[in-house]
Amino acid sequence: MTVRHSLSSLASIAMLCLAAVGSLAGAVELPDRAPIPQRRAEALLQAPAVEKPASRAMPAAETACRKELRALGVAFTAAPAVKAKGGCALPHPLEVTALSPKMRLRPAAVLNCRTARAAAALFQKKGAAAAKKHLDTQIATVVHGSAYVCRPINGMAKLSEHAFGNALDISAIELSDGRRVEVGGSAKGAEAKFLADIRTAACGPFTTVLGPGTNADHADHFHFDVKKRRNPYCR
Ligand SMILES: [Zn+2]
Repeated sequence: MTVRHSLSSLASIAMLCLAAVGSLAGAVELPDRAPIPQRRAEALLQAPAVEKPASRAMPAAETACRKELRALGVAFTAAPAVKAKGGCALPHPLEVTALSPKMRLRPAAVLNCRTARAAAALFQKKGAAAAKKHLDTQIATVVHGSAYVCRPINGMAKLSEHAFGNALDISAIELSDGRRVEVGGSAKGAEAKFLADIRTAACGPFTTVLGPGTNADHADHFHFDVKKRRNPYCR
């Protein structure tokens, strides 16, 4: 073997080695590395990470309240959380479409669970009893004017209870016999007594009860809310 031959053999070996490293590097780069981050991303999406914060974010009182609503036959779906904006907050909103299997709430109302429970309790018990007693019929639909709304109290800087899903404004009640009783309308006699009974009964399940006669802002609806107070405010 000549020196020249040996040198060219060494060069060939070096070239082969470089090619092998290159192809190894290619083999490592392409098939192995790409799927790993993807698997990790899928794992992150599917892992309990998604379920855990949701169940942690649902307080026991909220879970218990929803169970009560189901037992009462209230029709509702969980709505997306309302992010605090200007102080408005509704972390666990519900879209409620009926206060019992036979009593609709129209239009669908976004409320917190406590407010939905108070409304169902009022209309299923004393509301239904007042309809039977004064009008010899049943409540078919409770019509509301507003539920969750991110706004201050009219003419004030302070946020309304509507801004927390704590309030429901009742504008009319439709009866199974086709009659419609407007709050603040021309209801007289038995219809007026029916509304008066509901207003009186609301003070209990609700801590704030306002309506026609309270002030001009409430001339055409009942405002019911579940604001936490030492004593109810019913005017
Ligand atoms: Zn109101």
